[in-house]
Amino acid sequence: MKKILFLKFLFIFSNIYPQDKPFVLIYPVVPKKGEVVFLDIIVNSSFKLIVDSYNSKEIKPIKISDKHSIAIIPIDIEYSDNNISFTIESGENRYSYNIKVEEPVVREREIVVKRVKLKPENESVKKELLREAFLVNKVRNKFTEKLYINGSFIYPVKEIKNKDLYFGDARLIRFKDGIKKYYHRGIDFGAPRGTAVYASNGGIVVLSDNFITRGKTIIIDHGYGIFTEYLHLSKILVKKGQFVKKGELIGKIGSTGFSTGPHLHWSLLVNGYLVNPLQWVTPVISDIFSKGFNILGFNN
Ligand SMILES: [Zn+2]
Repeated sequence: MKKILFLKFLFIFSNIYPQDKPFVLIYPVVPKKGEVVFLDIIVNSSFKLIVDSYNSKEIKPIKISDKHSIAIIPIDIEYSDNNISFTIESGENRYSYNIKVEEPVVREREIVVKRVKLKPENESVKKELLREAFLVNKVRNKFTEKLYINGSFIYPVKEIKNKDLYFGDARLIRFKDGIKKYYHRGIDFGAPRGTAVYASNGGIVVLSDNFITRGKTIIIDHGYGIFTEYLHLSKILVKKGQFVKKGELIGKIGSTGFSTGPHLHWSLLVNGYLVNPLQWVTPVISDIFSKGFNILGFNN
């Protein structure tokens, strides 16, 4: 029964196996902007995965067994097209695929900033902003060819009061000199200062710092271009280079940096894009990383 239900969410690009042509399954069938699409790929020889829609960006697949890999294509919430095309290059052969993507449900929020704390024209502020951008980009561009993920991701906060968790709000910030619109690429957990924050999954702490906009920040590298980020903390309890287990206490909620009250900003980065972490809390993630989609029984 479970298998039949799962099948509903899969789209099969090729229906005969084994053969030379890659066998590709996708999940979800119609991903939304702001999510990732997982590819389950079975191919007899080594291959390269090129995302044509992203200026031929290469995405490194995660090997599950000899001929079986998983690859993850993130889709930005502001992605302008309605399709994503990718190519599998195997030896002399190229196989092209096209995936439809759906518009996300976007909620608009207005935030009124009465006093702007940051004055970018100030030299020391400018220096701090540059330092923050430099260090964050540096770790986000790391690629560790090792997977530290152990099953599905968990919420970084145990007692979630705000059940209305939402990714990708279109936020309108009213400054003195006008309105700025941006998409909030993370999840906010409102909770009292000092509330425990846990690692969403296993990984290596690659950043632990205090920044002018993100405040006290931790970034965990889960391997293969997957990172989680924890912002505005009042306390950081881990050090850079430290290995953390899923569920390990890493910090305390605060309101440091550019924040209007105690909350945790939690974000997930996959192959360079901030995507919806809520998609990664579902049990299906656990299966995908351990055995692939494995629905037809021959994947291994
Ligand atoms: Zn936030």
